[in-house]
Amino acid sequence: MSDRETIGVVGGGQLGRMLAEAAAPLGVEVVVLDPTPDCPASPVARDQIVGEFDDEEGIDELAACADYLTYEIELADPDVLERVAKRHGVPVNPDPDTLRTIQDKLVQNRALRDAGVPVPDFRRVDDREDLLAAVEDFGYPVMLKAREGGYDGRGNVPIADESEIDAALDQIEGGAVVEEFVDFEREVSIIGVKGDGETAAFPLGENVHREEILRETVVPARTSEAVAERAREVAEDVLAMLSGRGVYGIELFETSDGEILVNEIAPRPHNSGHYTIEGALTSQFEQHARAVTGRPLGATDLRRPVVSANLLGDGDERRPADSSGDEEILAHPGASLHWYGKHEVYPLRKMGHLTVVRRDSESTDELLETARELRDEVTFE
Ligand code: ADP
Repeated sequence: MSDRETIGVVGGGQLGRMLAEAAAPLGVEVVVLDPTPDCPASPVARDQIVGEFDDEEGIDELAACADYLTYEIELADPDVLERVAKRHGVPVNPDPDTLRTIQDKLVQNRALRDAGVPVPDFRRVDDREDLLAAVEDFGYPVMLKAREGGYDGRGNVPIADESEIDAALDQIEGGAVVEEFVDFEREVSIIGVKGDGETAAFPLGENVHREEILRETVVPARTSEAVAERAREVAEDVLAMLSGRGVYGIELFETSDGEILVNEIAPRPHNSGHYTIEGALTSQFEQHARAVTGRPLGATDLRRPVVSANLLGDGDERRPADSSGDEEILAHPGASLHWYGKHEVYPLRKMGHLTVVRRDSESTDELLETARELRDEVTFE
């Protein structure tokens, strides 16, 4: 047991890594639990316990060396977290009950709707009849989603017409929820934080997805002040319905008529908030460390307009990660590079990200263009 305050984190991926980096200046150390030896967080954490995310013995070991528990992955098991936290008298944040709610897309949509938060119209789907009845109301196209276990778009199947119904149902394991297909103008998100009796929210970010994976985040979002204000209001309502301290990624749609709908909530730092490391007065990771340890929250102001771009695995097979293109990024004034320390690359795997902060008078469009050019320099070939 260290004499320094310690956060025990279930999950040791890039989010755990960046959390450990941000906690250190606060005098807070991080120990992670992750099944992969030498996981991304391992080199910067004080220690790694090798174990599955729901391994009760491993989480017991984690709690025994921690003052606070949190998780950076939604696969964490809320029941195990609750039991272990109780046994060791160590607080776990965000509340495992929040995790339980967001792990099931049907329960999540219902909780949001019941709290008066706008969400796409949705129905529970247990069989073909449920789906056909919902489509009768919504009209095509619709989006069918597995209730549990989906991430980065896996578990989501768009359905254009009746001929695609059976194939779509075959792709979903377990229960499903169907949503009206939102005709969105853009996808946006807000990183919200719940502290000890206070909340905070970062500015609205605009997210560009391809193949349902986040490619770039542009901040501030290129939308009207009225839409940004509406998004802030919605984010406040979302934070009010969640329980437990910590950072929440709130994914939103801006519809073609300027409405804001909530797509989903991640009870942890979020890929669309990585820009805060260089772009905001306090990073989302420092905020998470502040929140779960009961410290005051930091300011969420943007320092400068900023764009982040994910560095995703290329090629078509799994192989050792050996990248090139760092020099171009590092040589560009205002650009920052974050590798996650993953030893293997495979197509679309999140290997790192880069951030470009505005220095002169470039427009946001130009910043985005620069971020894309630098991103395109990186290969793992
Ligand atoms: P995941 O949990 O796998 O990240 P999401 O539910 O966030 O999945 O969906 C991934 C992407 O699919 C979204 O970013 C959006 O582009 C698209 N999407 C999700 N739901 C809808 C919807 N109801 N209408 C239109 N597009 C949607």
